[in-house]
Amino acid sequence: MTTLRVIEIYASIQGESTRAGLPCTFVRLAGCPLRCRWCDTVYSFSGGEPMTIDEITDEIDGHGIGLIELTGGEPLAQPGAPELLGVLCDRYSQVLLETSGSFPIEELDPRVGVIMDMKAPGSGEESRNLWQNLEHLKVGDELKIVISDRTDYDWAREVVEKHRPEVPVLFSPVFGELEPSQLSEWMLADRLAVRMQLQQHKYIWDPEARRT
Ligand code: SF4
Repeated sequence: MTTLRVIEIYASIQGESTRAGLPCTFVRLAGCPLRCRWCDTVYSFSGGEPMTIDEITDEIDGHGIGLIELTGGEPLAQPGAPELLGVLCDRYSQVLLETSGSFPIEELDPRVGVIMDMKAPGSGEESRNLWQNLEHLKVGDELKIVISDRTDYDWAREVVEKHRPEVPVLFSPVFGELEPSQLSEWMLADRLAVRMQLQQHKYIWDPEARRT
């Protein structure tokens, strides 16, 4: 029987992606082999309660929300994650996966909306990017790049201009480090067709709180 290590399952407002603002149930899996400098979920790096897929869906059902996001940590670091995603797609109206882009996505259930968080140099984890993942983004997926400074911005702009992903692209300033107004000015100066993303949950609630 497949079990996964789960940090928390909770209902919140989706703070990111083009679905931002919608009620969403989050399933946060434990573990991540990356160490992004600005990571805001370090509490997910270890631990977690072992749960079967049935136990996970029972708890999700209790929240009564059809939009589900599997997040972490890096969810795909757990071997049972693809199976869980398939079950979630069978049961709920919309399933999202937040992944670092350092694990292959091409074998995942095609009903999953992948939000791929590519790593810019300021994260310290740029070398982890699996570039071939860009070829497997499909309708319903999104590409997100977290930006901490001008170097990251230039890097992200080059990624967009070179690869021209056919999915929404989200530029997200590191909270408390890069002013959204500064990032907006850079985007406008370049007339870049990407979407500014603010982490809504950090404006609604205490930014240190465990909500994503
Ligand atoms: S991939 Fe995500 S969970 Fe892992 S260190 Fe980076 S930001 Fe944190």
